[in-house]
Amino acid sequence: MSTIKRILVTGGAGFLGSHLCERLVDDGHDVICLDNFFTSQKANVAHLLGKPNFELIRHDITVPIFLELDEIYNLACPASPGHYQYNPIKTMKTSILGATNVLGIAKRCHAKVLQASTSEVYGDPEVHPQPESYRGCVNPIGPRACYDEGKRAAETLFMDYHRMNKVNVRLVRIFNTYGPRMHPFDGRVVSNFIRQALCGEDITIFGDGSQTRSFCYRDDLIEGMIRMMNAPDDFVGPVNIGNPDEFTIRQLAELTIKLTGSKSKLVERPLPKDDPTRRQPVIDLAREKLDWEPKVRLEDGLAKTIDWFKTIDLASYRPPTPNY
Ligand code: NAD
Ligand code: UDP
Repeated sequence: MSTIKRILVTGGAGFLGSHLCERLVDDGHDVICLDNFFTSQKANVAHLLGKPNFELIRHDITVPIFLELDEIYNLACPASPGHYQYNPIKTMKTSILGATNVLGIAKRCHAKVLQASTSEVYGDPEVHPQPESYRGCVNPIGPRACYDEGKRAAETLFMDYHRMNKVNVRLVRIFNTYGPRMHPFDGRVVSNFIRQALCGEDITIFGDGSQTRSFCYRDDLIEGMIRMMNAPDDFVGPVNIGNPDEFTIRQLAELTIKLTGSKSKLVERPLPKDDPTRRQPVIDLAREKLDWEPKVRLEDGLAKTIDWFKTIDLASYRPPTPNY
């Protein structure tokens, strides 16, 4: 039997999706990248367009599509708070209708389907660090709910298609991931701090900067995701994929200043509503079931990301939402 698979990556032109497509194309698979370019641009996959095993479809995953596939990675969804709060109703539709549509394809084609879920399913956690067994503390009516509850509902749909229709599903809960090809105006903390430091602008710390995040470099993340797709069929997850090294946001700002040599000042801005106070994955399950753990330290990954930011022309990026 051929080991070449027909693989769909929804959200494939985005930050993580474009790297995943690249890796799958390099591995020789037949890759279809589907994207509506809400938070990305064709430039992210332009280098793949001439390859015979790569195809790009402009399509919105809230609308059904008919494809013949072996595997699906479902990444289509705005991921940064500014982007997903821009049109919260659309964000929720993307998670729920998107999940329904990819699960429908998977059911018809007997394809395997992986959902890019998120640490946001844990909300502002009372349990720290967060194991997969923790059920979370999400405000269902707050500004982050469109994303958090959308992703939680998608996990529910995945598990119900699995139990009811025997669809071969995988749930990956991704913790804050960064790296080259992040949208420079997406408003996420790593892209904001690097852009601000390189442009000599003030570095905007929301709140007092004591809130924490645990940052995973994109190569580690992509490896974890692919291992999960290829794991034995009796392991559907959910599994946390993230780097357990925890940093305060102020530490991240100071490290960015150090690595860029910038003279930017740190300034405090109001903390957005429902901003989680801390976040750190327990990755015992990924270690045990996938033999996976992150390899790239924040300082090293940040240095590579800074190098990439130095090469890009900010003027060629459209700030995609007014909230950046
Ligand atoms: P991203 O914004 O760069 O990528 C998302 C992609 O999905 C973009 O290319 C966007 O245009 C596309 N998209 C959005 N809505 C769509 C729709 N309705 N139809 C088709 N395409 C659509 O963000 P990312 O960081 O690459 O995130 C990818 C996935 O991983 C998302 O599902 C996100 O929720 C998840 N995730 C990411 C992180 C992280 O730290 N990067 C953390 C947790 C979860
Ligand atoms: N943040 C910040 N300054 C910025 C952007 C973000 O201090 O310019 C903070 C934000 O309030 C949050 C953390 O950095 O506490 C991570 O934010 P991000 O939007 O990257 O992701 P989140 O983990 O909140 O989804």
